[in-house]
Amino acid sequence: MNLILLGAPGAGKGTQAELLVEALGIPSISTGNMLREAIANGTEIGKQAKHYMDNGLLVPDEVILGIVAERVAQPDCANGFILDGVPRTLAQAEALEAKGVRIDHVVSIEIDDSVIEGRMTGRRVCSKCGASYHIVANPTKVEGICDACGAEVVIRKDDTPETVQKRLKVYHEETEVLKEFYAKRGNLRMVEGNQAIKQITSDILEKIGAKV
Ligand code: ADP
Ligand code: ADP
Ligand code: ZN
Repeated sequence: MNLILLGAPGAGKGTQAELLVEALGIPSISTGNMLREAIANGTEIGKQAKHYMDNGLLVPDEVILGIVAERVAQPDCANGFILDGVPRTLAQAEALEAKGVRIDHVVSIEIDDSVIEGRMTGRRVCSKCGASYHIVANPTKVEGICDACGAEVVIRKDDTPETVQKRLKVYHEETEVLKEFYAKRGNLRMVEGNQAIKQITSDILEKIGAKV
């Protein structure tokens, strides 16, 4: 099963992707995590992406399509994958379609802009594996340490209120049209994002017909 998780910054895509990996046994592909790793490793892609990310702008489509095409071709994606945070523009969605990447369900996590700021100011992410936490809603078991891998959790550089506002604007201007794009193809499933984390996972599994 090939899934896309769509939603505003802070909607809970990364959080749900981690839970769906466990529930469905397929890998999650987070372009945000891949780009942050590239920056940390000082690679060419990291150098190209950094300025855009720090400023809350989208990284150019060619860069994104290159890393996604390479990743979905790997053997662990043969039984399915979860795309977290990609596609984010009409051009990315069209390019995936043109490359023959089959998509079964596009899950849009619906959330009001007014909820986002509280999510972002409390967000902490693992510096190593990218796992997402929240100081109130989803804290790590040991303060400052990732439950999954034991590395340090940090505040993302782009989670400042100003950059968050810019990313929200970009979401509404460039990404939200993808709902219409996938609705036309009969693939769009909407879930309410302003509820408990586990309830959202359960709603997603039900909407994609995977609930046992
Ligand atoms: P969030 O989940 O908070 O929206 P992400 O980790 O998905 O953040 O993305 C962080 C940043 O990485 C984005 O603001 C953007 O600069 C870049 N990025 C990630 N995925 C994409 C993509 N598919 N297209 C363009 N830029 C991307
Ligand atoms: P995205 O990948 O869409 O940017 P995240 O999954 O990183 O979003 O979630 C953003 C922040 O909100 C994180 O701090 C996360 O722990 C928290 N969060 C995620 N889902 C919920 C929820 N249902 N209720 C409250 N907080 C949540
Ligand atoms: Zn970790």
